Amino acid sequence: MEYFLTEEQKTIKSLARRIAEEKILPVRAELDEKEEFPWAIMKDLADADMFRVFIPEEYEGLGGGCLELCLIVEELSRVCSAISVSYAASSLGCFTLMGYGTEAQKQKYLPDIASGKKLTAFALTEPTAGSDAGAIKTTAERAEGGYVLNGTKQYITNGGEAEIYTVIALTEKTKGARGASALLVEKDTPGFSFGKKERKMGIRASSTRELIFRNCLVPEENLIGKEGAGFIMAMKLFDKSRPGIGAQALGVAQGALEAAVDYTRQRIQFGQPLISLPVVQDILADMATQVEAARALVYAAARTVDSGAKKVTEESAMAKVFASDVAMKVTTDAVQICGGAGYMKDYPLEKMMRDAKITQIYEGSNQVLRNAIAIELRKRRAKTE
Ligand SMILES: Cc1cc2nc3c(=O)[nH]c(=O)nc-3n(C[C@H](O)[C@H](O)[C@H](O)COP(=O)(O)OP(=O)(O)OC[C@H]3O[C@@H](n4cnc5c(N)ncnc54)[C@H](O)[C@@H]3O)c2cc1C
Repeated sequence: MEYFLTEEQKTIKSLARRIAEEKILPVRAELDEKEEFPWAIMKDLADADMFRVFIPEEYEGLGGGCLELCLIVEELSRVCSAISVSYAASSLGCFTLMGYGTEAQKQKYLPDIASGKKLTAFALTEPTAGSDAGAIKTTAERAEGGYVLNGTKQYITNGGEAEIYTVIALTEKTKGARGASALLVEKDTPGFSFGKKERKMGIRASSTRELIFRNCLVPEENLIGKEGAGFIMAMKLFDKSRPGIGAQALGVAQGALEAAVDYTRQRIQFGQPLISLPVVQDILADMATQVEAARALVYAAARTVDSGAKKVTEESAMAKVFASDVAMKVTTDAVQICGGAGYMKDYPLEKMMRDAKITQIYEGSNQVLRNAIAIELRKRRAKTE
């Protein structure tokens, strides 16, 4: 399929593929097994200027958009999505700053993020606020010189490894989501510590951790945007970042498709390669078609985000939901047609099937996002009546 990528986009994509094959492929199984954060790979990605891609040029970035980020995430995920999400979470952690931060905040933080010297994280979820993110309880009370944070964030990607955290907390606790604000919190701030490190089904080399705030004083100048705008900024952020989860799912599905073709070509049963069996061919053809459809939707959603369109809730949710469902189906079918080998850790497919699952859950579960798509459909129809 021709996606009319620019020469620059093709270069970024092929560089990401090279890093994935040369650096990630040899260590992915070991990092997964040991649940070890991929610091050496983060350094390789930094050396290749990959963190600069999503940062504007005036802050030492390369000024790429959603599509460029998706191309990198797709290629890294084709080999290991635990590593791609550790990379991509750093964009999630600074998008709010890029969109709504002051010039001084951007000058202070973005160059170090662009160089890969500092990773970031985005913290919204809490033990009692998952899909119902508006139910957060972490407070940021105004005090002399800033805000005092109290509360616990749960399941935060890059937790413990990142240096800079965008934290959504209530500056006006009686107002619920409308009283939420976004604050930049540095790792070594007194009163900020890390709790439980989660042990997971998949993306095991990524860090998913609790953030604990106990009377943590954050300077006033670390407020991003206006007080009370935190929840809206978070929702807008997800509208722009969800094609990236779609790209993560797409990469896993592509990797599984390739592994399944390779295996069924060389596995001989009943005197012929498995790939000669019509039933296997049917499954592979469906897998390939679904992967290509996911790619078309993810790239189109990313381009819509990059066009500056005001509202992209529906497009980005569709890309994330479709690609993640494809990733789950394709990885499961890939394991099936590779039989026992697909199920064993000697082959990559069991990891890919475990890794695919999270893409249906985070950044809005697929159930919640289907609901959001339906709401948009209804609104649009109502406008034409
Ligand atoms: C590995 C991992 C990394 C994560 N990283 C981050 C991060 O970096 N930052 C961050 O802030 N959060 C992060 N999260 C949190 C993630 O976004 C939430 O887990 C997700 O939004 C779902 O919330 P929940 O787990 O509380 O599930 P729940 O909200 O308890 O939902 C459980 C089930 O109920 C369904 N459900 C709930 N409400 C509805 C509804 N209204 N309609 C239909 N179905 C519904 C859901 O679809 C789901 O199937 C991460 C989670 C994981 C597992």
